[in-house]
Amino acid sequence: MKYLLISFLFFVHCSAQAAWHSRYESTMGTRVGVELWHDDEVQAERIMAEVMAEMTRINQTMSPYIESSELSEVNRQAADNPVAVSLELFALLSKAQRFSVLSEGAFDISFASVGYQYDYRAQQRPDKDALAAGAYRIDYRQVQLDPELQTVKFGRQGMRIDLGGIAKGHAVDLGIAVLQKHGVKHGLVNAGGDTRLLGDRRGRPWVVGVKDPRVEDKQAVLLPLVDEAISTSGDYERYFEEDGVRYHHILNPMTGDSAREVQSVTVLAPDSTTADALSTTVFVLGVERGLALVESMANVEAIIIDNQRKMHYSSDLAPPE
Ligand code: ADP
Ligand code: MG
Repeated sequence: MKYLLISFLFFVHCSAQAAWHSRYESTMGTRVGVELWHDDEVQAERIMAEVMAEMTRINQTMSPYIESSELSEVNRQAADNPVAVSLELFALLSKAQRFSVLSEGAFDISFASVGYQYDYRAQQRPDKDALAAGAYRIDYRQVQLDPELQTVKFGRQGMRIDLGGIAKGHAVDLGIAVLQKHGVKHGLVNAGGDTRLLGDRRGRPWVVGVKDPRVEDKQAVLLPLVDEAISTSGDYERYFEEDGVRYHHILNPMTGDSAREVQSVTVLAPDSTTADALSTTVFVLGVERGLALVESMANVEAIIIDNQRKMHYSSDLAPPE
């Protein structure tokens, strides 16, 4: 009887405390957040702090804006000598290369060889001569990775790399790994346009909106999702307009100019690194080639809003006619 009473009290205690917990902060140049269902508030706070610490750590390693980051070190040295990097950075560089191969160069982290000449806030962009001079430095085949020595070497002087199209997804995946390690069954981790959902929202799906690329605070679609990663790349995140032309942060590596066939791409995939890299990739590829790539991959879906605001869906998402 005594045992029964104790276990009854324990049950009441737990269920009274179980609740959603969330925390949002600014890092990696964007808003990042974590939400989870937990029956112990103190423990939930600890887990969320651990997720945030992981995000901060990744930013310190991979930001091109932080001089002491590993990535900055690579950009300073790799044109002259092979640079030894951490296993984590090496693995992410290798993944980035795989998306470059898969997309025949639409995804290319060496876009930064020209990309650094854009300043969207100051409305600056490289002129024709600078583009012509810079575009030949964009070539993922010249980002030479040596898996034995775990080094990176650039094949050309003046090359730079930037992981802006994949690092947030990587950070979200590591955030989800923190939740899983602590036994969390329902939660999400988000960094800017990249979100990964763990489980469902306790008996219901999560509902994630795809923004209308041209109307503030309007959703173009709502998607009910369970255990899935979703990433959106849009031309409205960082841009300026000049003579009616939009210069934004997703560049076509062939030209060094912004990709303009579509306004936004949303990709669903099992993990965020894949979803993040693919949303940027499909943005550059455009509707036809982008959807062909998505259809060729297992467990990947996409929604594209083209530059006429027409929506395109991969086959498993297409709404009935
Ligand atoms: P965000 O969530 O930052 O808007 P996206 O997933 O849309 O990110 O990716 C945009 C970022 O990807 C750019 O800010 C830049 O850092 C990087 N990027 C731009 N063009 C390319 C490209 N062709 N290949 C790889 N990365 C790119
Ligand atoms: Mg992306």
